[in-house]
Amino acid sequence: LVSRKKKSEDTIVTINGEQIGTGTPSFVFGPCAVESYTQVAEVAAAIQSKGLKLIRGGAYKPRTSPYDFQGLGLEGLKILKQISQEFGLAVVSEIVTPSHLEEALDYVDVVQVGARNMQNFELLKAVGQINKPILLKRGIAATLDEFIHAAEYIISQGNDQIILCERGIRTYERATRNTLDISAVPILKQETHLPVFVDVTHSTGRRDILLPAAKAAIAIGADGVMAEVHPDPAVALSDAAQQMNLKQFDEFYDSIQKFMKNHEVH
Ligand code: PEP
Ligand code: MN
Repeated sequence: LVSRKKKSEDTIVTINGEQIGTGTPSFVFGPCAVESYTQVAEVAAAIQSKGLKLIRGGAYKPRTSPYDFQGLGLEGLKILKQISQEFGLAVVSEIVTPSHLEEALDYVDVVQVGARNMQNFELLKAVGQINKPILLKRGIAATLDEFIHAAEYIISQGNDQIILCERGIRTYERATRNTLDISAVPILKQETHLPVFVDVTHSTGRRDILLPAAKAAIAIGADGVMAEVHPDPAVALSDAAQQMNLKQFDEFYDSIQKFMKNHEVH
C-alpha cells in the first residue's frame, strides 16, 4: 500500500496547517529530550519566531545504557502539551511501547517511532490504528526494503499518514555517529508515495556538519529536515555533542533559508 505502484500521487501529511510532502521542505527542531518546562520553552520561542509549526522532544528516551537519563515520561508529555498550547506548535514525540500509546494521544500531535523500534511490529500495528501522523525512523541496520515494509505494517492497519525519516545507518565509518544514507531519499520517494525527512543530528552526530548535511538533504529532494536544538547543549542530559544552541540554530536556519532561495526551493 505504500508503493508508488499502488498510488502514483504523493501523500500529503497535514500537521498544524503545514502540508508535508508538497516539495517545500518542512523543519522539525527541538531538544533531544524534554528536561524541563523552561528548557523546552526557550527552544519553542526560537522555533515560533521563525514561523515554524513543529517542535520535537523526547519524553521516553531509548538509551543505549540503562543508567543514562531515560526521559521524563508522562511528565515530559505534559510539558510538551503545555508548550504546544502556549506557542501554537505541533508536538512530535517518540512513543516506545504500545502500552503508552493511548495515554500519549492526548499530548502529542505526531507519534515518532524511533530507529530502535522500526521493527517492533506490535508497536507498528498499534500506531497503524490511530488517527495521528506517524514519523517512522529508519532502523540503525535496516535496509530500505525493511524500512518500506515497516511503513507497510502501519498503513496496512489503516493509517496512511506516515512520514519516513532517514537518520543514518551503522557502517564501519566512525567519523560520524552513523552514516547518512543520502541516496535513501530519492529511492524512498521513487518506491513509495510517502514524504521523506532527513534527521541530520542522529545521522551525523556532529554539530559541525549539520548544515552541509541539511543542504544535501534539501538538494536531493527531502520533504523535511529534523535537527536537535537545546538552550545549553553542554549540560544536555542526552546528545550533548550534537545539539545546536540557540545562536547556532539561528545561523543554521538562516543559511538554510539562503540556500533554498539561491536554489529556488520553495
Ligand atoms: C530521536 O529522534 O530522539 C531519536 C532517539 O532518534 P533515533 O531513533 O533515530 O535514534
Ligand atoms: Mn537525540
